[in-house]
Amino acid sequence: MAQRVAVNDAAGVKRTSRVRVAVRLRPYIGKEDEKGEGPCVRGLGPQTLEIINWRNATETLQYQFDVFHGEQTTQQEVFLSSVKPITPHILNGQNASVFAYGPTGAGKTHTMLGSQEHPGVIPRAVREVFQLVRIQERDQDEWQFSVGMSYLEIYNEKVLDLLSPSSQDLPIREDKDKNIVIPGLTHTPLSSFSDFDAHFVPASLNRTTASTKLNQRSSRSHAILLIKVVKSQRIPPHRQQTGKLYLVDLAGSEDNRRTGNQGIRLKESGAINLSLFTLSKVVDSLNAGAAGRVPYRDSKLTRLLQDSLGGSAHSVMITNIAPEYKFYFDTFTALNFAAKSKHIVNRPFVRETVMAPVNGKRAREEQEAGGSGEPQ
Ligand code: ADP
Ligand code: MG
Repeated sequence: MAQRVAVNDAAGVKRTSRVRVAVRLRPYIGKEDEKGEGPCVRGLGPQTLEIINWRNATETLQYQFDVFHGEQTTQQEVFLSSVKPITPHILNGQNASVFAYGPTGAGKTHTMLGSQEHPGVIPRAVREVFQLVRIQERDQDEWQFSVGMSYLEIYNEKVLDLLSPSSQDLPIREDKDKNIVIPGLTHTPLSSFSDFDAHFVPASLNRTTASTKLNQRSSRSHAILLIKVVKSQRIPPHRQQTGKLYLVDLAGSEDNRRTGNQGIRLKESGAINLSLFTLSKVVDSLNAGAAGRVPYRDSKLTRLLQDSLGGSAHSVMITNIAPEYKFYFDTFTALNFAAKSKHIVNRPFVRETVMAPVNGKRAREEQEAGGSGEPQ
């Protein structure tokens, strides 16, 4: 007896379908800055940053978001601010989604997956879900919980099961209760965090290995982890609620035409990331509160997330950006997508001192010539 959760919560308050937008600036990386130009973006406050205006270097562009995470922000802080608050809803039959958006190299995988020493949103969120389940089961007898995972990838508008790598493109369907389902997708029951790790880590490694062989595939596909929590009543009427949490490491938002994927003709490059393009339209239309149709059906990713993005779902988008000049246009595009507001300020962008080579051009030539070439 599945129960659908209404848009109004228990207090009768109508929740908005806005997608919260956070921006995370990763630390400056010297080797990403061959010309030794220093950063072109910097934080100004907990919601604002500025970027140099390339049209006029005497100006900066200032942007405002729901949250700005500066380069010093830790993995724990990102989790606490953007993800932890939405996890309890999963135990109450509600849906949620967390995305990392931004150009390749800006920190999406660091944010979502992280490393052994600095675990990201995914391991922290899964731990949190198990912890909440344990507390609920300890404190009340009426409900029991079961947790499970699926892990998939959308590549070239194909839905691929990462827990069953030989599987083919899977269909996305809507059931009679308007839940989005993927028949045939592997669902693995999980008993603990270490159980999750045992299934997730090898599947992630599969994906990374494949990506180097397949020409940076990981930067052009969306990796989607689904954590499902089913809450069942032990006594009649045996109600059941299902909550879904999607944790998504999106494809790189860089413009494939400009970054020159040589093998791909201009006409085709537009279709490389139909899902990413449609996602931005969906988020825009949700955040504009427009009465019109939200174009979920225009791509696989948004169709898949239809019941977990907007509506009564809790959604957060973490836009990752990089401070070096070589990312300038991709940063600019990502910020324009993420911003609540933007204005031009008439003041030069003060260059910070960086550990740059005396002569950036020479360092680059040395590098090209096969020398050590690292800026000193
Ligand atoms: P993306 O997944 O967007 O392509 P990555 O997460 O792989 O980007 O990040 C690119 C590089 O920058 C990696 O070496 C990563 O470890 C590093 N990096 C990204 N974000 C941070 C951060 N907040 N702090 C430290 N290093 C970071
Ligand atoms: Mg990545």
